[in-house]
Amino acid sequence: MFLTISTTGTPERPATDLGYLLHKHPEKAQAFSTSYGRAHVLYPEADDQRCTAALLLEVDAVALVRRGKGKGRGGAPDSALAQYVNDRPYAASSLLAVALSAVFSSAMRAVCAAKPELPSQPRPLRIEVPALPARGGPELVRRLFEPLGWTVTVEPVALDSEFPEWGDSRYVRLELESTQLTVAEALRHLYVLLPVLDDAKHYWVASDEVDKLLRAGEGWLPGHPEQKLITSRYLSRRWSLTREAMERLELVRLAEADDSEVEDIDNAVEAETETEEKPTPLAVQRREAILEALRAAGAARVLDLGCGQGQLVQALLKDPKFTEIVGVDVSVRALTIASRRLKLDRMGERMASRVQLFQGSLAYTDKRLKGYDAAVLSEVIEHLDLPRLPALEYAVFGAARPRTVLVTTPNVEYNVRWESLPAGHVRHGDHRFEWTRQEFRAWASAVAERHGYDVEFVPVGPDDPEVGPPTQMAVFTLGTAVIRTEKEAKAA
Ligand code: SAH
Repeated sequence: MFLTISTTGTPERPATDLGYLLHKHPEKAQAFSTSYGRAHVLYPEADDQRCTAALLLEVDAVALVRRGKGKGRGGAPDSALAQYVNDRPYAASSLLAVALSAVFSSAMRAVCAAKPELPSQPRPLRIEVPALPARGGPELVRRLFEPLGWTVTVEPVALDSEFPEWGDSRYVRLELESTQLTVAEALRHLYVLLPVLDDAKHYWVASDEVDKLLRAGEGWLPGHPEQKLITSRYLSRRWSLTREAMERLELVRLAEADDSEVEDIDNAVEAETETEEKPTPLAVQRREAILEALRAAGAARVLDLGCGQGQLVQALLKDPKFTEIVGVDVSVRALTIASRRLKLDRMGERMASRVQLFQGSLAYTDKRLKGYDAAVLSEVIEHLDLPRLPALEYAVFGAARPRTVLVTTPNVEYNVRWESLPAGHVRHGDHRFEWTRQEFRAWASAVAERHGYDVEFVPVGPDDPEVGPPTQMAVFTLGTAVIRTEKEAKAA
């Protein structure tokens, strides 16, 4: 079993940096023992311009069978012989993935003490796997790798070259090329996708496999168009594990959705305008616009409704003017991530007394939301089905009734400006709707009218003369008349 990773370079960024990235010196041939045999790493070529590392795994077929037995379940014991005489020693498969993670574990985690800046830099990469078992054929190979930014060359290997009429085997020769990816990303893609294509996982799938999958899939698996197939095959079609993984991926996707969209979109905008300075990500511009509006309103006690991973809560905590900050979300897992981000458990007492996270659904009235100066709904309404929106409206504007309410949502008109977004698509799979400026204004004005608020609209991000800004924000203020009557009512 064999694969090679190659890169090219210049005297300033020599190709031999690959040695630092993989933590394996280009001048040495090294061998490592792994659970399934000896893994060798060697460099067939290594100079400033070109460098190739080869990973070769000599599978110990006997160890393989013993391990299978040792775990009590020997995989599929077709026949005693099939366990010894099979394609394992020759084909790149899940065993190679195990070897990858054993031999290149620091590289996969993007750690490089000697040159800490290297791992995060994309570089020209070329990966070759001469014999890859690929259930699903070349077409599936493309569907798995292309969305990740690889240019894929995949050729079926004939069952027997002397008898072309026998057709193709289930093996392919795979070549991947990219200039946009880092070595760590490449290794993590292979670590997950080789066994997925092999689809015959040799070792017993335990529940920590879900953790391994999510760790290796970080940054690319959530939202991959074949996320379901990848998850299910990686976990050997164990449905309970698959379901757990899918739930956790969904959560990551939800919580990170807006940020990652924005990053993609930013890159597109950057490429388009070829600006020298990196534009501020939209998510950051949005947070700044929200903070500014909250300060302008003189709010001190603030609700962040649908707080997700807690980025806004974190920003609010940095300003002592905000004396009480409450993050609410329907997703317990999002709240767990938020509390980890905020380091709630290690926070000083004074800081901790200013912040609270709790679980709740905005589709129901909730007494705990009463009595705050302001509520923020940042990129939340579009995650609710339209028929649920009146319930949210009542819970926030009718029952909780803070003096100020900020609502942000995508402006669908702007979508034509995102180059990476196919026509007619919403920005994120979980968006139940995206509104034009007019639709948002109509909704917000009607809400204001029904509940005694005044409303103003603020563009967030570059305000395009034709299609408007990428994010639209409505600033609702409880009508002065209403405030007076309430005060009078209290006084009376
Ligand atoms: N406000 C954050 C997160 C936006 S993502 C930001 O601007 O980055 C949308 C969030 O709304 C998710 O965390 C989701 O769990 C939450 N959400 C969706 N429906 C909800 C509901 N009915 N009640 C409370 N939160 C909800």
